Amino acid sequence: MNMKKVAVVTGASRGIGKEITRNLAQNGFLVVANYNKSEKEMLELKTELQNKGLDIQIIKADVSKGNEVKKIIDYVISNFGKIDIVINNAGISSYGLISETTDQQWQEIINTNLYSAFAMCREVTPYMVKQKNGCIINISSIWGIVGSSLEVIYSISKAGMNGLTKALAKELGPSNIRVNAIAPGIICTEMNDNLSEEELKQIKSEIPLEKIGTTKDIWKCVEWLLKDEYTTGQIISVNGGWVIT
Ligand code: NAP
Repeated sequence: MNMKKVAVVTGASRGIGKEITRNLAQNGFLVVANYNKSEKEMLELKTELQNKGLDIQIIKADVSKGNEVKKIIDYVISNFGKIDIVINNAGISSYGLISETTDQQWQEIINTNLYSAFAMCREVTPYMVKQKNGCIINISSIWGIVGSSLEVIYSISKAGMNGLTKALAKELGPSNIRVNAIAPGIICTEMNDNLSEEELKQIKSEIPLEKIGTTKDIWKCVEWLLKDEYTTGQIISVNGGWVIT
């Protein structure tokens, strides 16, 4: 069996997931990086790492579908025989009045952001319980804590993820499996490409640390959670003080 720790990252082709994947690989983890639509970006990261003498396994899967989540875990187990870390990061958002949202948007956002994390946890827990070891990190959002106007479905999906984190931490603690969530504020990624310069300036003025977060800020929290041994069931806000609860 491979002695390196095996980590799965969903939505690893861009933004926060890409940064986490890059850093995990650079820190000696064996990373299985999932992507769905952005094959070019995923291959670019693989090449970037190969140029540094490192490698990652990449796997295309739409994590909003349970059978595709299972495909990822079957791949991990058949190739590496274990799974130590799961980062449920894949996510999408949309803006609009609740009166204008459709059932299709509900299905897409809930399945991509919440069902994917549930299905992933359901698949990995039998292996982690057997190992008596595991670390699950859900990438949530401050909107799952305080709610965001015009992002009702997104806020519900992230609030659900927070509930999943707390419940599962209690269920899996006795098996030495830690389950935590990181709730970013605003992080500079393509997810916020719809915001104008003016809107970004306004947001920055509301943040006590007076800056937009970077993907590195989220990686630093992941890094800490991986080293830690006594934190579980927590929703850790990384938001420059934008929301203090
Ligand atoms: P991003 O740059 O838009 O990247 C999203 C990632 O999710 C992409 O790699 C995408 O992969 C993947 N993804 C989307 N649907 C997928 C699916 N069905 N199956 C597999 N992968 C899928 O977004 P980001 O800002 O990095 O966001 C990452 C996470 O952080 C999300 O959960 C988001 O809600 C959360 N978050 C972000 C912010 C922020 O300000 N950026 C704040 C709070 C929370 P493909 O392109 O390959 O499909």
